[in-house]
Amino acid sequence: MDLTFLTRSDFWLDIIFPNRCVSCDKTIAWNETFCDKCGADLPYIEDIPWQAVFAMQTDEPANFDYANALFWYKGNAKSAVLALKSRNGVNFAKFAAKYLAMKFETDGQSADIITAVPMNAKKVRRRGYNQAQVFAEYLSKNMDIKTDFVLLKRRSTSTEQHTLAKKERLAAAENAYFISPKAADLSGKRVILCDDIFTSGATVNKCAALLKELGAKSVSVATICRTDTSRKFESNV
Ligand SMILES: [Zn+2]
Repeated sequence: MDLTFLTRSDFWLDIIFPNRCVSCDKTIAWNETFCDKCGADLPYIEDIPWQAVFAMQTDEPANFDYANALFWYKGNAKSAVLALKSRNGVNFAKFAAKYLAMKFETDGQSADIITAVPMNAKKVRRRGYNQAQVFAEYLSKNMDIKTDFVLLKRRSTSTEQHTLAKKERLAAAENAYFISPKAADLSGKRVILCDDIFTSGATVNKCAALLKELGAKSVSVATICRTDTSRKFESNV
């Protein structure tokens, strides 16, 4: 995928296609991601005990070893992550990858491989890209770690994950993801798994289990946004 085009970071290209705020769609300078108003009101996540948040959202043991996200899934970050489903929002993936790479580096979270939660092939064809993979590609550039997107696959399912209750999400994730027949052996490798939103954690937990089945030594989860259904941590921001 030609990310140079998607980022619209080229000045001249921007004259033809004006850059827009990824949250409110207002026209902004070519090198910005948010307008001043939206950029001043972003729900950044400070340091959170991710193990505790995950444990409150699921009864499952965590198959991943670390997780971090840049924003709570609300306000201007929520509208920007929803805009990721259109090409305009791709700037947000670039923005999030830059700052999340800094968080991972601060926490000593390096890796050998970066991968993404897969989307089923039909949906990728319809949308033109998998937003989790676009985010992973930017994170890869920022952290100087190679990507591998042929590790996991997703079956097409009739129901969207976000419409399901907690128990149903776990069952759906259990069935939806599987190891690609073309997957490489990950023995001894540290893997970063990317997705756009961490909701119940069911999806990343299943994908982390599959990466461990492939031999991964550790799996760290990087998401742009995450929810806190307990509201215990989110209310502190
Ligand atoms: Zn805005």
